[in-house]
Amino acid sequence: MHEVPIVRDIFNTLQESHPDKFDRITKVQVEAGLLCNVQPILIQNAFEALIRDEPQLAHIDLEVVLLPIIAWCGTCDKHFDVIRHRFVCDCGTPSRKIVQGEELRISKVEFLT
Ligand SMILES: [Zn+2]
Repeated sequence: MHEVPIVRDIFNTLQESHPDKFDRITKVQVEAGLLCNVQPILIQNAFEALIRDEPQLAHIDLEVVLLPIIAWCGTCDKHFDVIRHRFVCDCGTPSRKIVQGEELRISKVEFLT
């Protein structure tokens, strides 16, 4: 289960980037590309485990948004959706040029005003 260190990383990053208002965070949204193999339910479980160690995080709402995989076809000069890990464009050209699907990032943070 690699979700626990991921969730720890997320909150360490937030603490570093918002040291003055970290304790006012109410909601965190994380975007995870499907290639990261991150499961939202496991992220929630990992977050609950983290809260047991750090109860001051208990009021934070953590949301995970999964991003589909998108690759780039050089023949058509366009992006295409990768469905079921099939890295082949409509035109039949295989492509491994991934433009979305590998990222794992904090996309939104809301604070108590
Ligand atoms: Zn194509």
